[in-house]
Amino acid sequence: MNKAEAKTRIAKLREEIAYHRYNYHVLDKTTISEAALDSLKHELYKLEQEHPDLITPDSPTQRVGGKPLAKFKKIKHARRMLSMEDVFSFEEFEAWYERGRKLSGKNQLDLFCMPKLDGLAISIIYKNGVLETAATRGDGTTGEDITVNVKTIESVPLNLMSEKGLEIPGTVEVRGEVYFPEEAFEKMNQEQLRNDKPAFANPRNAAAGSVRQLDSKITAGRGLAFMAWDLEADFGQKTESDEWELLKKLGFRAVENSVVCKYLAEVRKHWEALQKKREKLGYWIDGMVVRVDDNIVFNKLGVVGKTPRGLVAWKFPAEEATTVVQNIEWFVGRTGALTPVAVVNPTFIAGTTVKHASLHNYDEIKRLDVRVGDTVILYKAGDIIPKVKEVLKNMRPDGTHAVHQPRQCPVCGSDVVKKDEEVAIYCKNPRCFAQDREAVLHAAKSFEIDGLGPATVSAMIEKKIVQRAPDLFGVTAEELLGLEGFAELSAKKLVDEIQNKKTIPLANFIVALGIRNVGLETAHDLARHFGSFDKLRQASVDELSAIEGVGQVVADAIVDFMKQEHNQEMIDDYFKQGIVIKNPTQQSQKLAGQSFVLTGTLESLTRDDAKDRIRALGGDVSSSVSKNTDYVVAGEAPGSKYDKAKKLGVKILSEREFLTMLGR
Ligand SMILES: [Zn+2]
Repeated sequence: MNKAEAKTRIAKLREEIAYHRYNYHVLDKTTISEAALDSLKHELYKLEQEHPDLITPDSPTQRVGGKPLAKFKKIKHARRMLSMEDVFSFEEFEAWYERGRKLSGKNQLDLFCMPKLDGLAISIIYKNGVLETAATRGDGTTGEDITVNVKTIESVPLNLMSEKGLEIPGTVEVRGEVYFPEEAFEKMNQEQLRNDKPAFANPRNAAAGSVRQLDSKITAGRGLAFMAWDLEADFGQKTESDEWELLKKLGFRAVENSVVCKYLAEVRKHWEALQKKREKLGYWIDGMVVRVDDNIVFNKLGVVGKTPRGLVAWKFPAEEATTVVQNIEWFVGRTGALTPVAVVNPTFIAGTTVKHASLHNYDEIKRLDVRVGDTVILYKAGDIIPKVKEVLKNMRPDGTHAVHQPRQCPVCGSDVVKKDEEVAIYCKNPRCFAQDREAVLHAAKSFEIDGLGPATVSAMIEKKIVQRAPDLFGVTAEELLGLEGFAELSAKKLVDEIQNKKTIPLANFIVALGIRNVGLETAHDLARHFGSFDKLRQASVDELSAIEGVGQVVADAIVDFMKQEHNQEMIDDYFKQGIVIKNPTQQSQKLAGQSFVLTGTLESLTRDDAKDRIRALGGDVSSSVSKNTDYVVAGEAPGSKYDKAKKLGVKILSEREFLTMLGR
């Protein structure tokens, strides 16, 4: 990106961030998810780092929190309350560390690691050991006077504790986080609903709203808590870990689960452990703060803008992020259907780098009006590729065009056709390379063959080693050696893997054939009903459509598939290659004693069907989540049961995981 482009982009980012921040911090209104806003801020921060001359004093990166509300008295902070730079991956964290290490001239830096509480940062001043004032962070220089309210928080000491030999300076400032314990948050939300008031969406908003009450009785009733993370007074402490000990001695809850790490690997381990632990803490954290432990080194590293160099917040994976659409490509599936995919600037969501996002079909493109060059919000649900949630239209650059549907297949160049009453468009060519490749990949997945990716399958088809899926089982190591990227060992490994997967459960084999509208769920119904592939092969439409879970459309598709000569050949080829089908045995009671709760909408079966299936296997279905629940099955748009399960640490199953559990 050149300077002029960066300038335009920065301006757009600032405008968008300012809009959402005003809503969030001043009006207590959420117009964008926290994660998406973080993502915008992160991009701005990075661009400004690349072009420091474009940083202006009014950039969102140059201020902390929102403007103080006029209705509160203002308090000027003795020392600015700084903010933190966020990083989202180990690589970014490592880069932060390396920069600090070089700047400090040290070989190694001890790092103090603490959970990042999802609350509201405040400053409390003690004069001669007595709480005098408390203020919000505000814009970093001036905050709001919330003394009366903070005094209602039981975990804030009104007098500093002192022990023998501990000399307390005349003025002591303690900074930390006001937060909501989960129980208090839930109680308050129930109260809100009882009084016909809206529930708070997240604990940080709720904490901010509760501490900024003009009537302190309201604050007092809400059960807020406080943990300290900074001591601005000279007790002779040399490190952040010393400070923790001091804070505890003075009567505070210093942020718990904090440790000193000597090596990056240790930091990473602690970060991972915290992420696992977060559901069980009883309060919300959204990442880990890492600070250079040694105060002299920390101060020497200094401050850039409003963030200290010696401090960083390594956030937990977010479920949403913003990015820019580079291109919209059409992907050809095994049925020949063309699916649009957005190619995006790499971004980090839920722990992985994402370069593609699903757009489903042309109607979706029209609905979103997504264009090349647009800034979009992506979100991830389950283990599938992320979807485009929203286009930030204010950020659209000039000269974009609406996306058109292609007239030709992008792979083979054949015309595309639209089938009646379907949204999708299809490549007309039945021997389209993309379709062959996808069919082979689909079969490989059903046979659970590991290590066989699209690139290898493409190469196999190009070299005519494989034409259709059954050919996979005849592939030799010698043939693979002719392909790029294969050495003797890797070729043998893949051949062994394929040969080891020759035995397949009947349901999976039915899926492997790639009959339209026959997914794993239907395949299980068919397998259970017929018990063997031969019987299914000879079944009539009437017999098929009479099976529960199989409708007329599916019955027609199956009979039509079995009739076609090239499919009969394919099936025979499978048997010639020596594959073995494992027929289903008697219905087991494998879920006996297990309790399930369903939430959200399942795609492949109704809730009643899901209940029947669980019960048929001996399991129980309950309508509410408790500690005794073994699994919560979460479909599309899950409700409060999902949150409850997360809180209680109950195992949550995606639809796919649930079907797998039923199936085998
Ligand atoms: Zn094609």
